[in-house]
Amino acid sequence: MPIIKIAIRDDDLSFYSKQEDIDLIYGRYFGRIPISFAVIPFVCEVGQIDQNIKGRGKTLNVGDKKYNIGLNLGLVEYMENKINNNNIYLSLHGYDHKYIFKNRNYLGECLWKDKKTLEKELAGGKNHIESLFTQRLEVFVPPDNGISKECIDVLVNLGIKNINTIFDIKKISRKIDIFYLKNLIKRLFYKVNHTQKPYSVPQSIFYFKDHREKAAILFNQKMSFEEAKNIFEMQTREGTSRLIIATHHQELIASPTFLSEFKKFLDYLLSVDNVEFVNIKEAFNE
Ligand SMILES: [Zn+2]
Repeated sequence: MPIIKIAIRDDDLSFYSKQEDIDLIYGRYFGRIPISFAVIPFVCEVGQIDQNIKGRGKTLNVGDKKYNIGLNLGLVEYMENKINNNNIYLSLHGYDHKYIFKNRNYLGECLWKDKKTLEKELAGGKNHIESLFTQRLEVFVPPDNGISKECIDVLVNLGIKNINTIFDIKKISRKIDIFYLKNLIKRLFYKVNHTQKPYSVPQSIFYFKDHREKAAILFNQKMSFEEAKNIFEMQTREGTSRLIIATHHQELIASPTFLSEFKKFLDYLLSVDNVEFVNIKEAFNE
């Protein structure tokens, strides 16, 4: 069977994260599976939001106060040690993860912030993380999966050309050029042949003029081990060569059932012959 390279991505590593939690989830996998964390440099505080809004949890980052990950000294030391042993790889996950409420929806920061703000904040956030850890940031994970054309320009100028998301086909969300048109046709063609979610999104790499995009598959509380295994088997049958599986340590810690299903999935992947674990940057290399 052809090899399938898998990156495990864990989101929202920030000032709020605890090294004990990271260790409880991934301790037994370090050395066998590199874990790619999406890092928030200056997370803004979590606040209550309207609980009636569909599809959202009870809290989101909406406050004004920001917390520097560098001040969580225990976490920084723990992560740096793991980075040096190639157990952990970091990607940038916005600046403060702040949401705003607009058009009856909560928007992630890479959709609502203007270009000037993004230039200042993303450069500052990248420099900050690179000053704390001995690793360069080369992958960007947009908070809440949304990113504007302007934000992509900012990232390309900062030397970050791998973006772990996929453009929206319902609206024009990228510069219109030959790359965009080719990618759009590729996606529409795939969608016609794969009507069921999450299969409707191809897991291959999308090349644009200056950057690359790739989707991830979210393993959240609603997913069971069996479902995740089905997705993996389907992707294997499709001949997918690279998969990024995304999750959230805070949610895993909050639910023993979720954690157990997720660990079952990791154990299963470790037992499969054609799986090779890579970090998120390597998932973009063909
Ligand atoms: Zn996030």
